Amino acid sequence: MSESQTHQQQPLEAKSPFELRVSLGKDVPETEVRSALASGDMGFLHSFTTGSTVDRPGVRVVAWTAGCQWRCLYCHNPDTWNMSNGIPVSVAKAIEELHKYRHGLKVMSGGITVSGGEPLLQHRFVMKLLTAAKNIGVHTAIETNGNFGDRLTDEDLEKIDLVLLGMKMWDSERHRQLTGMDPGPSRALAERLAARKQPIWVRFVLVPGLTDDSDDIAKIADFAAQLGNVERVEVLPFHQLGKFKYKELKIQYELEDVQPPSQESADRAVEQFRAVGLNAC
Ligand code: SF4
Repeated sequence: MSESQTHQQQPLEAKSPFELRVSLGKDVPETEVRSALASGDMGFLHSFTTGSTVDRPGVRVVAWTAGCQWRCLYCHNPDTWNMSNGIPVSVAKAIEELHKYRHGLKVMSGGITVSGGEPLLQHRFVMKLLTAAKNIGVHTAIETNGNFGDRLTDEDLEKIDLVLLGMKMWDSERHRQLTGMDPGPSRALAERLAARKQPIWVRFVLVPGLTDDSDDIAKIADFAAQLGNVERVEVLPFHQLGKFKYKELKIQYELEDVQPPSQESADRAVEQFRAVGLNAC
């Protein structure tokens, strides 16, 4: 697709993923969306942040992709579910942006993280971006629910230095109730990365009454520990920062009245991961 087309003229400014963004790609015809997904020459980004230390290691440029097939009840970015809410960005433009930051990223031992939404929904675009990053010596990471891990070839995996893998729930039935999807593909990606000795950071969202069952957490911890490639586990306390988005988007929000977990409950979950030898925080 040509850079001169009007729907690609929107600037790729650094924005917070916590801002509500809607319909930024709505003018892109469906046929062009399909061809962009097939070629990877264009992607849809919800936002683009710089200087993030949350999506570590180091200081990161983070590209937040639009589009996710999961429907986690606790998702704080429901505006990323729909790809047409994202800004259409050519891969050339995204790489040009990345080049602006490359020296700083190297000096600060940082890199690029592609998060979402679900980045592997646009795996060809993401891999073109991460390959470009690797070619200029920038550390690469993706944050994924793992559902489309089988879209990545072994050659693709070589371009990804770190996978931040969301593990939501062990029990399959409850996982489906929580996310709408089966956990099998995520675990398959974890096992594939383990066989390749590629590092994973596990991200686990702790929601009172939903994901805080200690038996279920113990099973996730056992699975993660036996993989042998989990460098770190991050227990992320549920929060309500995305509540306003459900209201604005007129999407039913089932966790309206759920409070963040207590410090004691978060500490207990961290201890469960530590108890099986994992580095958890
Ligand atoms: S996988 Fe992530 S982006 Fe998708 S619904 Fe779940 S929390 Fe939201």
